[in-house]
Amino acid sequence: MSITVFNTLSGKKEEYKPINPDYSGFYVCGPTVYDYFHIGNARPFIVFDVIRRFLIFRGYNVRYVMNLTDIDDKIINRAKEEGVTSKEIADRYINAFFEDIQKLGIRPADVYSRATDHVPEIITIIKKLIAVDAAYATAGDVFFDVKQFSRYGQLSKKKLEDLQAGKRIAVDELKKNPADFVLWKKAKPGEPSWPSPWGNGRPGWHIECSAMSMKFLGNSFDFHGGGQDLIFPHHENEIAQSCASSGCDTFAKYWLHNGFLDMKGEKMSKSLGNFITARELMEIYPASTIRLFYLQKHYRGPIDFSEDGLNAARTTAERLALTYKKLARLTPGYTGDFEMESRQQTPRLKEFHHRISTLDEELIAAMEDDFNTPGAIGKLFDIVREVNKFIDEGAAEEQEKEVLAWVQGKLDDYDRFLGVIDKSQGGIDHERMDAVMRAVIKLRHSLRKEKNWPLADQLRDGLTEAGIILEDSPAGTTWRWRK
Ligand SMILES: [Zn+2]
Repeated sequence: MSITVFNTLSGKKEEYKPINPDYSGFYVCGPTVYDYFHIGNARPFIVFDVIRRFLIFRGYNVRYVMNLTDIDDKIINRAKEEGVTSKEIADRYINAFFEDIQKLGIRPADVYSRATDHVPEIITIIKKLIAVDAAYATAGDVFFDVKQFSRYGQLSKKKLEDLQAGKRIAVDELKKNPADFVLWKKAKPGEPSWPSPWGNGRPGWHIECSAMSMKFLGNSFDFHGGGQDLIFPHHENEIAQSCASSGCDTFAKYWLHNGFLDMKGEKMSKSLGNFITARELMEIYPASTIRLFYLQKHYRGPIDFSEDGLNAARTTAERLALTYKKLARLTPGYTGDFEMESRQQTPRLKEFHHRISTLDEELIAAMEDDFNTPGAIGKLFDIVREVNKFIDEGAAEEQEKEVLAWVQGKLDDYDRFLGVIDKSQGGIDHERMDAVMRAVIKLRHSLRKEKNWPLADQLRDGLTEAGIILEDSPAGTTWRWRK
């Protein structure tokens, strides 16, 4: 079956047909590295990671590129506040970004490109835009002339006339047209700058994505991803800059945009005081829980961030990990190859095999339908239910173990793109671990009753070191893994 993709450009689902048979170019707008990224920003990193991995699973040779915006007003301001250079700030948060995405189970991009490493490429594009009259320099700044690009507004479905009317109050005197946007910013005293034909300055944000996507993926490539808030002006401007300079009809063929993460109905932002970093969230929840929480909603729809939702996702993720481990325990030494036809079929085996095969097809079909992860996860849990039922009824025969190894192979396949099965506790048997922990909790309770605080604390510290968190509540004490 083919894969269908909702394309923001056309406003409908389209069949995915690669531009180039050799590879599928995929560009995603990366972080501006002035702080740890927050849980709203984590969403595109996770959903486009899954989409990319599903394409790879389906045999496409994906070339995945992400930019790192390492020069920006926010970085400059942060550097001033701390009395360090912009580069120090950028380096610090690029390292933190790599640490955090690794912990979130996100595969590294094929290329991470820093804006400041691409200033010559950016200048080349701006020169081209000036040469074809799509841009103009004025007093050290360079602007894109939106009137010269007839398709402007195509992605965001905005009309140039409306944009001009809306912006009339805040007309920048240097611009020909209020909707024109900056390509090159004149240097301000004390700020990092690079020499250019228009004097010292630095690139605007939009132009860096045009320069780096075309450098690594060519003038036309398959996928461009980002949050819905980037459709206008950022992505609209990327199309204008790229096509006006390269002459391409198509810059990115399919535009994919993820929905927002809402905090109690409000978009998360620093000023609203509802700002949580992914790093903070990972102190409380394992990556498999966080990924499941995001992927249980379709990537284009909004997500309401809530503790209840995350706690529910944790229970679900634990159930999934437990079933996976049960399978692993039952099927050591089996390869996962299973040919139903060549077997003596008991009705029970036949029925189980048929149910799993059907659910497997439905799961893949959900992913093929615009990467419907909630649909796929629903099918995954139908499979979990079937497996548990089959095991509980007693899977003892050798061929039953073989069929379970085949199911385990399927779960491994799904996890190659979903990344929601927590295998990190490897050999640990959850049920036995829980029994041990109940004994430990009882012991600590007795110590506290005897007011033996030093020993009770020592026990707790030891558990913390082992990555186990105890949570006391009026209902009693529970335990969980730290991450
Ligand atoms: Zn971008």
